[in-house]
Amino acid sequence: MNCRKFQNYINSFLNNELLDRDILKEFIIHALSCKECYDELEIYYTLQVGLELAESDASMSFDFKGEIERMLIEMDYGIKTADRVEWIEKSVRYTANIVVVMTGIMCLIKLL
Ligand SMILES: [Zn+2]
Repeated sequence: MNCRKFQNYINSFLNNELLDRDILKEFIIHALSCKECYDELEIYYTLQVGLELAESDASMSFDFKGEIERMLIEMDYGIKTADRVEWIEKSVRYTANIVVVMTGIMCLIKLL
């Protein structure tokens, strides 16, 4: 994903509307590897959260610094975990198929 594409997705990301997992993955990878885009994302995020806090009339102070980075890293980890689970599921299904085929072959051999 390039910087221009990234910037087009910032709003969707902050509104939890970035639902395509591949795009989300590319977005997170770009955010964590491109300093300029990360800074821009952080500015938007700070503005958004700041506005929300102002609207909710909360008087607590909130430290934004690093918050978005934590969020990105957590999401990146979440996606990687999901990918791993998917891979394990695929492997199990694949192994099960092999067992079925092998059992079939064994039965045929016995029958012959
Ligand atoms: Zn960039």
